[in-house]
Amino acid sequence: MRQYYIAGNWKMNKIKGEAVELATGLVSALKDGKNKYMIAPSFTNLDAVAQVVKGSNILLGAQNMSTELSGAHTGEVSALMLKDLGVQVVILGHSERRHIYKEDDAMINKKVKLALEQGLDVVLCIGELLEEREAGKAEAVCEAQTRKGLAGVSAEQMKKITVAYEPVWAIGTGKTATPDDAQAIHKFTRGVLADMFGKSVAEATIIQYGGSMNASNAAALLAQPDVDGGLIGGAALKVETFEPICKTY
Ligand code: PEP
Repeated sequence: MRQYYIAGNWKMNKIKGEAVELATGLVSALKDGKNKYMIAPSFTNLDAVAQVVKGSNILLGAQNMSTELSGAHTGEVSALMLKDLGVQVVILGHSERRHIYKEDDAMINKKVKLALEQGLDVVLCIGELLEEREAGKAEAVCEAQTRKGLAGVSAEQMKKITVAYEPVWAIGTGKTATPDDAQAIHKFTRGVLADMFGKSVAEATIIQYGGSMNASNAAALLAQPDVDGGLIGGAALKVETFEPICKTY
């Protein structure tokens, strides 16, 4: 049976009590789930949520990480601090980091390599803007973000990498890529990974779709041969909306 990887990016939502409540609900709702699950609360809630998910089948993720391990970097959070709290996965290159906070591919690549060196798993987000899609550049943008984001990563380290295709125009907008659109970019991206790391690594790499995924559209998206899971924002904020996605198949 195919195992999907379903992850919830809580973004800058929930104060501690709310985060603990959601995590507690998910531990119970997903305890018999057959897929791989991850939740990424905000930094300030990682410690509390770590206590809740400990020993469960839900991985703990962070939404970002510093390029540096320690030192004079006011406001940053390092891989050492994340690991100390029990974080296993870090989301890097999310479109909100790229476009609002101007993180470029070089910075994201530095974070990817540091996270891997520190033993963290990585979800590397890629995806085109609406104007890039309309200009016929979706593949070129995703290829560049994949190649630059994963530059210097070894085939062995790819076991710890998940790629998330998140068309920026579909994030938080209610507009989902059609299953065919998603499949086309996922297949294309797998081809890029095959060129970089070889066919078997590309086939083993999980490629998640993200962008307004919900209980109604998850089945059609996850049915695509190259869509191996989902990275979910809005619908990850309630047990009632996240659980059905997690249990689609
Ligand atoms: C995301 O931020 O990764 C995301 C996919 O958000 P949403 O599901 O709300 O579109």
